[in-house]
Amino acid sequence: MQQSKLFDYMGKYKYENLFLCQDEEVDFKAVIAIHSTALGPATGGTRMWKYDSELDAIEDAMRLARGMTYKYAAAGVNLGGGKAVILADPKRPDREVVFRTLGKFINRLGGKFYAGEDVGTTLNDMEYMFMETPYMITLPEYLGGIGPISPMTAFGVVQAMRASAKEVFGSDNLKGKKIAVQGLGSVGSSAVEQLAEIGANLLVTDIEEPRVNDIVKRFKVENVSPESIYDVDCDIFAPFALGGIINGDTIPRLKCKIVCGSANNQLKEERHGDMLEKRGIFYAPDYVANSGGAIYDSDRIFGGGVVNKERAKAKVARIYQRMEELIKIAKRDKVPTYKAADVMAEERIAAIAKVKRHWETMRPFD
Ligand code: NAD
Repeated sequence: MQQSKLFDYMGKYKYENLFLCQDEEVDFKAVIAIHSTALGPATGGTRMWKYDSELDAIEDAMRLARGMTYKYAAAGVNLGGGKAVILADPKRPDREVVFRTLGKFINRLGGKFYAGEDVGTTLNDMEYMFMETPYMITLPEYLGGIGPISPMTAFGVVQAMRASAKEVFGSDNLKGKKIAVQGLGSVGSSAVEQLAEIGANLLVTDIEEPRVNDIVKRFKVENVSPESIYDVDCDIFAPFALGGIINGDTIPRLKCKIVCGSANNQLKEERHGDMLEKRGIFYAPDYVANSGGAIYDSDRIFGGGVVNKERAKAKVARIYQRMEELIKIAKRDKVPTYKAADVMAEERIAAIAKVKRHWETMRPFD
C-alpha cells in the first residue's frame, strides 16, 4: 500500500476510521484501526512491534482489524473489528507509561473500540490500560477477566472437528478417529487432553522434546517427528502450531480427510484452499475453528461486566452450528469452505445492519 492510496484502500475494504495517536512527551506512537462497528464496538488485540516503517504499522493494524470483523461476525458474536498497534520495541521497559497513554486514547473513542492482548503485550499491560479506560475486552482474573482462554480455543476446535466429521464421515463421534496433532503448546496440549477423553486415536508432534515427552507420558499417545506429521495416514490433520503449513509442498503429502486446528492463517495462499478441495480434503476454516477463545473472552462485556464461565462455554459450543452453516453456504454457492466462511461473515453483517437501522441504541453497550 502507498501512503497516497490510503483512502482508496480504506474505501475498497470499507474501513470506518484510522486513528493516529502520538504523545511526544512520552515518546508514544500508535495506530488504532477500526474496520467495522456494524455488529458492535470494534474489538481486537493490542500489538507492540518495531515496524520497518510507519506505513507497515498502519497496514498491519488495518489488516488485523479487518480479520477481527470476519472472526466475530462468523462466530456469531456482536462485536466489530479493530486493532491497536504501538510502534515500539516490544521489550520497552516503561510499560505503565506506554499502556496508560494508549488507554487514554482508547477512552477518547468512548466505547467504539475495545482492546485486548496480542503479540508484544501481556495481561499486566491490560491492567495499565484499564487504569485509564473501561473499554477493555481482556483483563486479568483478579480484575474481573475470565482467565486463560486457550482451553476454550481448544474446546472450540473440537466442536469444529465434530461438525467436520459429521459432514465427511456421517457421524460427529470422534471416538477412534485417528488425529495427527501438530504443536503441543497451550491450545494443542489442551486439545489432546479433550480428544483423549473422547477416545480419539492420537499421534502428536512438537519441536520441543520435553513437551512431547510430557504429553506422551500423560495420555499414552504415539509420537511422530515434526517433519513426518504431514505424511501420517489419518482421519484429521490438526495444526496447532504455525501458519502457512497448508501449501504446495504439504498438500500432496497429506493422507487425511479433514484439516482442522487452531493455527492462524493455515493456508499459505487462498489457492491452497482450492487445492485441498480438489484433493477431497475438507478444510475447517481457521478463523471459525479457532474462535473459541475470542468468544469466551467477550462474555464479560455481554454480561454487564461480570463473567459467567458456563454461559461463555455454551457460546463457544455453538462453533458446531457455525460450521454447519458455512457447510450449507459452501454447497449453496459451490465454493470451497474457506470462501464460505467469508460469505457467512459478510451475510451476517449485511443482515444485522438492516436490523440495526431500527434500533435507537446498541445493546449491550448502551
Ligand atoms: P504456543 O506458542 O503455546 O504453542 C505452539 C506450539 O507449536 C509450541 O509448543 C511450539 O513448540 C510448537 N511448534 C512450533 N513450530 C512447530 C513445528 N514446526 N512443528 C511442530 N510443532 C511446532 O501457541 P498456542 O497459544 O498454543 O497457539 C497455537 C496456534 O493457535 C497459533 O497459531 C496461534 O496463533 C493460534 N491461536 C491461538 C489461540 C489461543 O487461544 N491461544 C487463539 C486463536 C488462535
